[in-house]
Amino acid sequence: MKKPIIAANWKMNKTVSETEEFIKKLSAKDIPEHIEAVVCPPFIGLKDAVKLKQGTAIKVGAQNMHFEEHGAYTGEVSPVMLSDLQVDYVILGHSERRQLFGETDEVINKKVHAAFKYGLYPILCVGETLEQMEAGDTEVLIQKQLELGLAWLSANQVADMVIAYEPVWAIGTGKSSNPELANQTIKQIRKYIQDIYDTSTAKSVRIQYGGSVKPENIKDYLKQSDIDGALVGGASLQVESFYKLLV
Ligand code: PGA
Repeated sequence: MKKPIIAANWKMNKTVSETEEFIKKLSAKDIPEHIEAVVCPPFIGLKDAVKLKQGTAIKVGAQNMHFEEHGAYTGEVSPVMLSDLQVDYVILGHSERRQLFGETDEVINKKVHAAFKYGLYPILCVGETLEQMEAGDTEVLIQKQLELGLAWLSANQVADMVIAYEPVWAIGTGKSSNPELANQTIKQIRKYIQDIYDTSTAKSVRIQYGGSVKPENIKDYLKQSDIDGALVGGASLQVESFYKLLV
C-alpha cells in the first residue's frame, strides 16, 4: 500500500537553530505509521535535520538543486552534495522557482533525472496560474508540464516519484482549491500517466495536492480518491500545526 506523503515546504524560512528546534520537537512525537512525513528546510539546515531525525520516521527533503554534479555555478547546490548528506527527497519545479527564478520545464526535467541518478526522490510540482485557470487552460498546461518534466523517465522511476499538483492561485493565498476540483485535476494527471506509461505506474505514483492546506482542511483532501498527500507551506512552519496535518 502506498503511504500518503505530507511534506513541509518551509521555503526561505528558519535558521539552523530553528530547524534543530523543530526537528527535536517533532522527533519527540509519534508519527502515525500510515503517513510519510517529510520536512524540507533551506539548504543550510539540511545537515542538522538529517542528523537529528535519525531513528525516527521523519524524512528530509531539499527545496531545489542544480542538475550538474559540480562546476562553475556560483551559489548553487548539486545532487552529489545532497546525496552525500543523505537527503531523501528534493522538491523540483516549484512555481516560485518557475516564476521568480525562470526555471523551464526542460531544466526541471534535467533536475529530475539528476535526482534519480543520485538516489534522491523528486517531488515534481505542476500547476496552473489564475489566468490559465480562467482561460480554461488547466488541463493542457499541466499535460505540457508533465510531458516535458517527465521526459525520458522510465515507468519505474515515475512510479517511485511524487508529483505535487499546486494551483499557483492557491499557494500562500488562503484560497485553497475545492477538494473535489483538485481531485478531478489529479485524476487527469493520473490518466495522463496511464496513457504514456501504464496502469500500474499510474496507480503507484503518489500525487499530492498543495496550496493553502491547513489542519482544518487537510482531511477534505486526503479523503479524495486520487489525492495521496499534501505539500504544505505556511501551515508547516509551526511544529504543532504540522503535526496536526499528520494525525
Ligand atoms: P502554502 O504553500 O501551503 O503556504 O499555500 C504551498 C507550497 O508552496 O508548496
